[in-house]
Amino acid sequence: IKRLSNRASIISPSATMSLNAKTKALIKSGKNIINMSVGEPDLRPPMSASLAGIQAIVNGQTGYTPASGLIELREAIAQYLVEKTGISYEPTQIVASAGGKQPLYNTFQVICDEGDEVILPSPYWVSYPEQIKLAGATPVIVRCDETTDFKMGPEQLAQHISGRTKAVIITSPNNPTGSVYSREELKEIGLVLKDRPGIYIICDEIYDRFVYEGEHVSLVSLFPELSDRIILTNGFSKVFAMTGWRLGYTASSLDIAEAISSFQSHATGSPSTISQIAGIAAFDSFDESMVAEYRNRRDLLLSGLNKIEGIECSVPQGAFYAFPKVSNFIGSEFQGKQISDINQFCDLLLEDQLISVVPGSAFGEPNNIRLNFAVSTELILEAIQRIRNFTEKLN
Ligand code: PLP
Repeated sequence: IKRLSNRASIISPSATMSLNAKTKALIKSGKNIINMSVGEPDLRPPMSASLAGIQAIVNGQTGYTPASGLIELREAIAQYLVEKTGISYEPTQIVASAGGKQPLYNTFQVICDEGDEVILPSPYWVSYPEQIKLAGATPVIVRCDETTDFKMGPEQLAQHISGRTKAVIITSPNNPTGSVYSREELKEIGLVLKDRPGIYIICDEIYDRFVYEGEHVSLVSLFPELSDRIILTNGFSKVFAMTGWRLGYTASSLDIAEAISSFQSHATGSPSTISQIAGIAAFDSFDESMVAEYRNRRDLLLSGLNKIEGIECSVPQGAFYAFPKVSNFIGSEFQGKQISDINQFCDLLLEDQLISVVPGSAFGEPNNIRLNFAVSTELILEAIQRIRNFTEKLN
């Protein structure tokens, strides 16, 4: 008897979420673990957002909202987007959803058909390939490496376009690499896509306010004429440290927004009313000092990592991840055991030094590991020491 659908059988669990669960269980059992695996900021959400959430509960503002979210929230999002991109989205073009994940899931569901292809530069965020497959489409991976700071160039993109290409994903700043596409680079990407009217461009901007050098540029601000093909996704988890509140959104052309809203109205309904009210308050309370704080932590981690023999790490310009290359250690021996791949490297690092990091294989890059540097400076210093201790034991 076949107990699971074909759809369920092709999906693997989120590697980062399961690693985080394993790490938290070890912490609970009393182990002194440094958890650099999860993509979560260690700071608190803005107090104004927390208070607005509490007030919403106390005031009984806890009923259903429209499936696409409260109009006041969508107006606040539109206001943010016009300042950032110059594009005036109507609130009807914006759909609020649960976290940064659901906007992307919804998008693939409403634009992809069986057999479509979605171009996905690697290293990529873990959930894209699974979400693309769940929509019946196929991820077409474009492998990018440190020679281009893990960014996809225009020729690479053009080479991977086929008659079946339905969409391209651009994530800037990127998870896991922290790469940020410059204005020039985005122009080149846009020029490739300009004359290909059947291709959507999904721009995941969930880390948009965490840029440490230069600026964050939205593709849609450079190519307003493509705005009916650009689906912008964003969320509150990272920049407002509101991971558990589950709030995010898409901004798109009206037909896509309406399809997403209908889809969501049956799948989940709106995101939590309490979170939406908190989200409106968050918009006025972005803490700029977080950016300087994370830049300092990044610099501390980077200088420590690059001093360890055998490790190379390019400088992440955004987000809060470092993605060092550790492939020099694959094939070496730890206490008589050969390290055969990156997963084993991370397992042994956790076992021996009690530090949890994500193997790059989860992001399509088996030479690297991802470390979240949104942890305290004390932990960063301790982490560097533990990684050094571990690599010194390898031969
Ligand atoms: N997009 C990217 C690039 C991410 O890194 C993440 C979270 O790690 C998400 C989307 C999903 O965000 P959320 O946790 O709010 O669902």
